[in-house]
Amino acid sequence: MATDEREVREIRLDPVVPTESVLVSTVRNLRPRKKEQPAPRDTRSQVKECPFCAGNESMTPQAIAEYREQDHWTIRIVENLYPVLSSAAQGTTFNEGLRQAIDGYGRHEVIIDHHNHGIAIHEMTEQHLGRLFSAYQTRMTELYRSDPRLRYVLVFKNFGPAAGASIPHTHSQMIALPVIPENVQAEVHFSAAYHRQHHHCVYCALINDALSFTATVYDRETGESQRQLHVDTYVVEKSEHFIAIKPFASRFEWEIHILPLNHQADFIDVPQEMLLDFAGVFRNTMARLDAVLGGAQYNYFLHTLPHNFSEQNYRHSYHWHLEICPRTSIPSGFELGSGLHVNTVSPEAAAKQLREIQLQTLTG
Ligand SMILES: [Zn+2]
Ligand SMILES: [Zn+2]
Ligand SMILES: [Zn+2]
Repeated sequence: MATDEREVREIRLDPVVPTESVLVSTVRNLRPRKKEQPAPRDTRSQVKECPFCAGNESMTPQAIAEYREQDHWTIRIVENLYPVLSSAAQGTTFNEGLRQAIDGYGRHEVIIDHHNHGIAIHEMTEQHLGRLFSAYQTRMTELYRSDPRLRYVLVFKNFGPAAGASIPHTHSQMIALPVIPENVQAEVHFSAAYHRQHHHCVYCALINDALSFTATVYDRETGESQRQLHVDTYVVEKSEHFIAIKPFASRFEWEIHILPLNHQADFIDVPQEMLLDFAGVFRNTMARLDAVLGGAQYNYFLHTLPHNFSEQNYRHSYHWHLEICPRTSIPSGFELGSGLHVNTVSPEAAAKQLREIQLQTLTG
């Protein structure tokens, strides 16, 4: 088992989805990946030609929802001008030999996270982030209610060109799909299988493991064994209700997952006061990433209980979470061809580095 200082060269299986694996290889000359170029962040608060900036509301479709503070909006939800799925489609399927397809039915919306064009997530207040997560919840609920054909609402954010963001103004997106995405399907499936075997949630087990990691060490000289306790090896941030963990089988060097400490399947069920606590953990985590990476380009996405498919069966086995995946390198042919992710920073060392960042300047 790797400790945080020595070289690591291990193929690690994802504890939830064992069909996913990652090669953790910190050996310098084995690095098969190309470093992503850091992009300078656009820190302007207002940009004349930006369609998401205050004053340019006429450049976007009409707002679906608007959250206001005093005389201006702070969060705005609009339809995506270039939707990848359309509500005008019929939702029909066709089969032709080996070719099967479902009509591209769905919704694609943009959440303009903040009126300030270039503000970073960790620069937003906890109150604002709490409102943003609450806006996600409200819109997800409305979408599920609006059409029973929608099976999953994926909330995600691309930030920075390396993460696929085409408009620099801070925004997240919501895509309502007629299918359950494969990643979520796999997590739901494997966590249910784990639950059938062990009678508890695999994510809860991972949290317990992260909080109290024990290993048995044998002394070569005396042959004696001792229990060693490494507490918090994988913990990046923790609050009353949430924990930010560096996954043991992290696909990306600086990947972090945030989960509720107590079992909860559906993000929509999180009460308001808990959302504020979530905002705090999320903001600190993003500040740590920003400090370590010197400006992070990243994707984050919410994995939560899918609706409209005998969801009751999975309430005890599935556990919602937010996955944050900073983009620091470009996948190589080896990764694309093998499906094996390559991570060149040991998750143990990364967690330590993230944890050791001093956050005093953030408080208040
Ligand atoms: Zn803007
Ligand atoms: Zn759980
Ligand atoms: Zn997930």
